[in-house]
Parts: sequence; C-alpha cells; structure tokens
Amino acid sequence: MKIVLFGPPGAGKGTQAVRLTERMAIPHISTGDMFRAAIQQGTPTGLEAKSYMDRGELVPDEVTTRIVAERIAKPDCQNGFILDGFPRTVAQAQALADIAEIDVVVNFVADDEALVRRLGGRRSCPTHGIYHIDWISGDKVHCPECGETLVKRADDEETTIRNRLTVYHAQTAPVVDYYQRKGVLKEVDGMLSVADTYKIVTELLGVAP
Ligand code: AMP
Repeated sequence: MKIVLFGPPGAGKGTQAVRLTERMAIPHISTGDMFRAAIQQGTPTGLEAKSYMDRGELVPDEVTTRIVAERIAKPDCQNGFILDGFPRTVAQAQALADIAEIDVVVNFVADDEALVRRLGGRRSCPTHGIYHIDWISGDKVHCPECGETLVKRADDEETTIRNRLTVYHAQTAPVVDYYQRKGVLKEVDGMLSVADTYKIVTELLGVAP
C-alpha cells in the first residue's frame, strides 16, 4: 500500500508512521528526517535545506521531489511505503503522481494553538524516540528510560513553530483539495491519544492494529 500521512507539523504523523512501518513492514519515508540526516552529514542537499528549515520555511520543490523520487525508486519501496511530511505543496503532489499512485492519504486534523503547545514541549531521545515534557514527571531534561539528554529540535522554538503553521496554511493545506478530488482522502483527529489515533488509522487503512 502506498500511503501519505498528511497534516500540520505536530499532528502526530511521525509517531503514527513509526508504528505503522513496523506493523505493515513497508518503509517510513520522512522528508524532514532525510533533510536532518543530510544536514548532519554535511551534504550539498543538507546545506541547501538548512537555511529554509531554520526559518520554518519549505525547502524548494525541486530539491524535495528529487530526494523522494530517489528514495521511492529503491527496491524496498516496491510493495509500498509510508510518506510522512511529503507532499507539502500541490506541485509536490503532482510530481508524486508522476512516479507513484497513492492509495490513501490520511489527513491528521489539529488546532493551531494545541500544535504550538505540543511542538514547544516536544523532545527526543536518540534511542527511545519522541516525548512531550508533560508526559515526564520529575526530570524533564533526561530520557526517563536511559538517562540520555533529551534533544529539542531547533525549529520547535515558538517563533519558528508559528511560521511553520503559517506556511502550512498557505502552501500545504491546498493539497487536501487535490487529494479530495482524487477520492483518496481520509481524516483522523490528530489531537487524540497516540493509542486511539493508531486504532483509527489502522481501521482507515484496513489493517489489523
Ligand atoms: P518535519 O520534520 O516534517 O516537520 O520537517 C521539518 C522541515 O523540513 C520543514 O519545516 C521544512 O523546512 C522541511 N521539509 C520537510 N518536508 C518537506 C517538504 N515536503 N517540502 C519542503 N520542505 C520540507
């Protein structure tokens, strides 16, 4: 199955993608993760992406579409994939349509102010994944499981979060209409718990949880 997890930053796409990729045994393709890896490796793509990401803006379509096309062409994507954070513009959705036929787009719906709170409290452990500081009682600086220092993403500062949401409404939200017209759009409330969202998403995809 070729799946797109769609929605504003912080709506839970990445968290659900990690669960679904294990459950469905198809790759999780996150353009944000690919760009962050490219930045760490100091590749030309990483250098180009960094200035946009730091401002909470979108990396140009040509760059983003190229890295996705290269990734989807790999043999492990033959039986399907889960795209997380792509497409983010109608031009990206059109470019994707030229290389793959998407079966289902799950749109995670969430309120801006709730997203600002969620993203502002988001931390990650390199080994144990994503936390929200509200979930951790006591020490909120270290991973409750392994004691590693938790990391806050540079673009999870409030000014950048608000810019990412403005960019989402202006450039990304129109993609909803594009997929609605194609008849592949399904919707989930992105503000539910991780477990409840997972249950609904698996139902929408027609797979056992
Ligand atoms: P994410 O991890 O999905 O929140 O993405 C982090 C940042 O990477 C975004 O704010 C953009 O700067 C960039 N990015 C990720 N995916 C895309 C995309 N499909 N198109 C353009 N920029 C992207």
